[in-house]
Amino acid sequence: MNYYSLNNKTHKVSFEEAVIQGLAPDRGLYFPETITPLSPAFFETIETISHEEIAFEAIKQFVGSEIPEAELKQILKETLSFDFPLVKVEENVFSLELFHGPTMAFKDVGARFMSRCLAYFNRNKNQKNTVLVATSGDTGGAVASGFLGVKGVEVVILYPSGKVSDIQERQLTTLGQNITALEVDGVFDDCQDMVKKAFLDEDLKYKNLTSANSINIARWLPQMFYIFFAYRELKKHNKPIILSCPSGNFGNICAGIMAKRLGLPIAHFVASTNANDTVPRFLEKGNYEPKPSIATISNAMDVGNPSNFIRIQELYDNDLAAFQKDFSSYSFTDAETEATLKTIYKNTNYIAEPHGAVGYLGLKKEMQQHPNAVGVFLETAHPIKFLDIVEPALNIKLPIPTQIESVLHQEKVSIKIKSYEEMKNYLLK
Ligand SMILES: *Cc1c(COP(=O)(O)O)cnc(C)c1O
Repeated sequence: MNYYSLNNKTHKVSFEEAVIQGLAPDRGLYFPETITPLSPAFFETIETISHEEIAFEAIKQFVGSEIPEAELKQILKETLSFDFPLVKVEENVFSLELFHGPTMAFKDVGARFMSRCLAYFNRNKNQKNTVLVATSGDTGGAVASGFLGVKGVEVVILYPSGKVSDIQERQLTTLGQNITALEVDGVFDDCQDMVKKAFLDEDLKYKNLTSANSINIARWLPQMFYIFFAYRELKKHNKPIILSCPSGNFGNICAGIMAKRLGLPIAHFVASTNANDTVPRFLEKGNYEPKPSIATISNAMDVGNPSNFIRIQELYDNDLAAFQKDFSSYSFTDAETEATLKTIYKNTNYIAEPHGAVGYLGLKKEMQQHPNAVGVFLETAHPIKFLDIVEPALNIKLPIPTQIESVLHQEKVSIKIKSYEEMKNYLLK
């Protein structure tokens, strides 16, 4: 399968090159050249098919012959080695819990898939790839865990000092081996700017830098898997399905739309955002005006210019009318989010966290217009990762899951940096 750059459709690369490069040399995101729907028979029998088989069917055309079937199946087995429960929260409303992986964030799925693809591509090479990633919280931990010990890959994670939670910081600073954490004196946008600059820096070319954000196709495409898994459970209700994704860089929702292109019957998509409302404003006013990010309690979605939105526009061929028929986007305040955490808990005993609560709010709003539908929102992280907000809001004490317990007693190791030059010196040494 070939991928073209969204900045220049004549620039085409293989799956392997797209994964290794992350972004095209012209800074465009990669996009698959063809998308072929799966057979109707697959959807007719999906409830009898295992998660690994479903994932294989969903991804195989995007990998093509570049990874042999047996190896790809092994990669999927390792990627999907945990549960994806669909939990009923109230009548016709379900939470798809994506937080049962090793770092308790949905990003585990993409990080594990991508790391194993890179390991496969490096199997006979002496060259090294450097995964350089900026994190506002969850990406760092998932990437650190997913890439730990992977042959031929060095991982360098930049995070803003004092701006990530204690648990998140430990997840990315305690693993050692091929993982290094650079603790940046600044905010997330500073980390992101350093990463962007590094990708353009000729002096760093030989380091074979790649990204592990959802701009990388091997992080983004596997996010389709769990949308298929949700359908596998919801099919029996025989109702139109509404999917609400709490959205930051719009990777999950874009993967959902891709799943629909493969034939998955999702009736309507909702991109639920916090105060970072670039896409809701676009749908209302028709012009796309990114803004600097605003800090909120759902901080993994504090993104002012969502990187995958351009892929969504490509999926709709820039046809705004067709897009609006399938897609809504709503923005919610921190006060609404916190109040919703409380009402969900009071009415149903379900413990959500701020990102899931934003997803729930968007779903409920959209369902007012689809009274016969069944709705699902993504619960993208475990509440323990946002305990500073969840515990006081609900007046409860959360038990610490074993995945988290194991990092709490490890010693933090990070390298403090203040400037791009310091990061570059680290990479060059
Ligand atoms: C990354 C993240 C999101 C945003 O997901 P996108 O695919 O970038 O829209 C939402 N919630 C949590 C907890 C996250 O870590």
